[in-house]
Amino acid sequence: MPFLKPMCEICPLRRFAERRPQSLIARIWRWHISWCPGYRLYKRQAQGEAQAEAGRG
Ligand code: SF4
Repeated sequence: MPFLKPMCEICPLRRFAERRPQSLIARIWRWHISWCPGYRLYKRQAQGEAQAEAGRG
């Protein structure tokens, strides 16, 4: 699902969690990334792109 990558990149919940890591929202967000298939797909795609960039380097 390619549309998920931009969504996770601009996710307001993620940004809020990064700004206020001790907040309840941040704790819920961290909990959700332990099981969310969309976020896992996003991370896998991001890692694949990083490895492709390193390979081109
Ligand atoms: S999957 Fe999680 S990080 Fe991605 S957009 Fe949805 S709430 Fe945000």
